[in-house]
Amino acid sequence: MSHPDGRLSMDLDPVERPAQDECGVFGVWAPGEEVSKLTYFGLYALQHRGQESAGIALSDGERIVVYKDMGLVSQVFNEATLESLKGHLAIGHCRYSTTGSPVWENAQPTFYTAREGGLALGHNGNLINTPELAAMLPGDRLGATTDTEVLTNLLAQNGGRTTEEAALDLLPKVQGAFSLVFMDEDTLYAARDPQGIRPFVLGRLGGGWAVASETAALDIVGATFVREIEPGEMLTIDERGVRSMRFAAAEPKGCLFEYVYLARPDTTIAGRNVNSTRVEVGRRLADEHPADADLVIPVPESGTPAAVGYARGSGIPFAQGLVKNSYVGRTFIQPSQTLRELGIRLKLNPLRDVIEGKRLVVVDDSIVRGNTQRALVRMLREAGAAEVHVRISSPPVMWPCYYGVDFASKAELIAGNLSTEEIRASIGADSLGFIGLDELVAATDVAKDRLCRACFDGVYPIEVDEASRGKYLLEKACGAPKAGSPA
Ligand code: SF4
Repeated sequence: MSHPDGRLSMDLDPVERPAQDECGVFGVWAPGEEVSKLTYFGLYALQHRGQESAGIALSDGERIVVYKDMGLVSQVFNEATLESLKGHLAIGHCRYSTTGSPVWENAQPTFYTAREGGLALGHNGNLINTPELAAMLPGDRLGATTDTEVLTNLLAQNGGRTTEEAALDLLPKVQGAFSLVFMDEDTLYAARDPQGIRPFVLGRLGGGWAVASETAALDIVGATFVREIEPGEMLTIDERGVRSMRFAAAEPKGCLFEYVYLARPDTTIAGRNVNSTRVEVGRRLADEHPADADLVIPVPESGTPAAVGYARGSGIPFAQGLVKNSYVGRTFIQPSQTLRELGIRLKLNPLRDVIEGKRLVVVDDSIVRGNTQRALVRMLREAGAAEVHVRISSPPVMWPCYYGVDFASKAELIAGNLSTEEIRASIGADSLGFIGLDELVAATDVAKDRLCRACFDGVYPIEVDEASRGKYLLEKACGAPKAGSPA
């Protein structure tokens, strides 16, 4: 990835993340409050959803200012920058790219000049009719290569209508996953796709309002959860309060993988705390795939709640057998060959005293390519584990996601090509068990037909045609964006 100042950054994360997250969005309308700092902390709480770039758009009622750059929220903003951003409404975004390259031009919020003023927008999700939408643009070359850029440009081409009128006209034509925050100089807007694939919530913040991808972000800025934004609903928020409009009938299909891995454990989705759901999944996993073992250890931290549940369900003692370095991630330091060879140990290191001579149940949230689990099993055996029984708190991931989560392609997904027994042999475990799909669904307390489970069962709730697939489809059409400078 090229950085605007010419440095080369690389992802040093030696542990394959089960799936790349897919952006976090935050919005606030709060006169009298330091909205730039509120948005900063909202994004900080959502950092796990996207670590490639971050940005804030803010308005004082007269003009919109956008500040964004590549990097983590804490790398993009500092005290002086936030102090300089004055206004009463703002939107924020942290990005992991699912359409378009991870370059500065594709960072969000995106901004276009409309007939009267400006329009800024942040998007969590992934559209599946981007080429169709791009064809609606009147010959404009896009400034970037994302589905979000197309949406912002279309909204800004409002033909003299208000932002609200333009959005209500456009949103019914948009297909795929979208939790959107957008703004003009005076008003904050929030809209969620008819399937409600990505989470999106509304909160009360003193005399103002906040919207966020997850309830945890509301907690962290001191906002009180009011309700979920409904699938197919658009909110407008200004000095008159919150007004709700429906642009499509709700057909709920919330993402099941949010419960497994994507969302923070302290977030609540559909009335159920994610941590409690993960503990319950672990309890069910213990019933479904028991093991004769001495200790249950999690792969921290996303495997921890399910490991707690497994220990409770099985009666096998729980222990922390792996220490995680939470700070390994994106870095501008090029690892030496020696460091590369340490691989998984940069992030996870076994506690030899805990695991030596023990028969272990190791609980992880998912298997994508299998490389992490293979390295992990080998490392645990080298540290003296007598047996390693791997238990996974999601069903095998067999299909790619087209709605905003960047899994590997089907060819790279180990479960797309191998049976459970073949995967067990491939990772070198003594036994391997995945939670069944129906058990996972039951743990969420949400009806199966109101959840997207496509990466597990191949049933896609919104049909995706071949021409609309691919992260770089607009780059093929427009040519790759040139490197630019930060605003
Ligand atoms: S395919 Fe999987 S990751 Fe994608 S929205 Fe559906 S459940 Fe979530």
